[in-house]
Formats: sequence, structure tokens, C-alpha cells
Amino acid sequence: MEGKRFGNLTVVKAADTTNTRWLCACDCGNSRIVHTDTLLSSDLLICGVHCTMYRRLYYTWNTMRLRCNSHNNRDYHKVGALGIKYHPDWDYFDKFAVWAKATGYVKGMCLIRLDEHADFTPDNCKWVTWSEMVSRTNKGRVHKPHTKSRKLTADDVRFIRRWPNDPDVEMAARFRVCVNTIRNIRNYKTWKGI
Ligand SMILES: [Zn+2]
Repeated sequence: MEGKRFGNLTVVKAADTTNTRWLCACDCGNSRIVHTDTLLSSDLLICGVHCTMYRRLYYTWNTMRLRCNSHNNRDYHKVGALGIKYHPDWDYFDKFAVWAKATGYVKGMCLIRLDEHADFTPDNCKWVTWSEMVSRTNKGRVHKPHTKSRKLTADDVRFIRRWPNDPDVEMAARFRVCVNTIRNIRNYKTWKGI
């Protein structure tokens, strides 16, 4: 087993004397002890759900679930409240991740629905780059000058700080402000009282 690769894991050495558990090194740099059965049967082999190889994808998956399920989510009114659900298999991160890999997901890509009135399903979803996503979202307002950025509210600022894992550039596009505005908010250089 030593040296063999399973997904993102490489077996380093046996973790017990019966050779049923193995110390494995993950591509992200962490390690994990894995049972032989798991190595041979699992589709997604990483060190754990917070593996940096998948952290971004995990965030995407979790956001999709929150938009469908959580009344507290900012987008709930246009997703879950409208009855939009996700495919039952996608309740499991590993199944979602396997689908993502098979459909050309590369770190940083965004999940979109082809028909925005339909559910999150393998048939209705695809991966696009962030710039593709922004140009889709901005359709119909492309003629507006770029210099006109939105005025932020205190609620916006709280939202920007509440999701520190959202890349600055994504937040900037979402609120239609420049990246430095987001950075300054997150570093408390501006909006200090919030
Ligand atoms: Zn890892």
C-alpha cells in the first residue's frame, strides 16, 4: 500500500499492526488516517471537509444549501422562498464534489443554473468562471458607466465582514464597488464604527 495514490491521498505507512488503517498524506499538505475500506470505496479522498483542496468548493456547496434552506440567508427570498431546491444527492458534499470534478470544476469557478427558475440539479447546473458570471449578472446594465459604484449601507458592510472567505473580487462584483473598497472595509480602515 505504501506510496499508492487514492484520489488526493497518498499512503505513507500503516497506522496499526493489522494493516487496516493507513496514515495518508493529502495533496493539500495535511495528513489523515484512513481505513482500507474507505480508501478502496470512497469517491472523494481528501483529508477532511475543510481540506484546502476543496475549501472553496465546500463554500460553494454550503452557500447553495443555505440559499435553499436558510431563512437567514440574504438570497433566500429569491431561491428557497420560491420553492427552489437542490438534488437530494447534493445533500452530501462528497457526491456534489464528485459531480463537480466530472463537469470540469476548477478552483474558483462559480455554480450557475441554466434555468434560474428551476432547481439545482446536475442537468440544470454548470460551472463558469467568475468573469463569465459577472457578465451574465450585469446583462442589461452594461451601458452604465463603470465609474458609478454603488453606495454601501451599514448592512452591506456587515454582510461583507460576515463572509470573510468570499474573495474580495467576488464581493466587489456583488456590490459593484472596487476591490480596494472591500479590502478597506475588511481591514477596518473604513466603516470603523460598524
Ligand atoms: Zn487535504
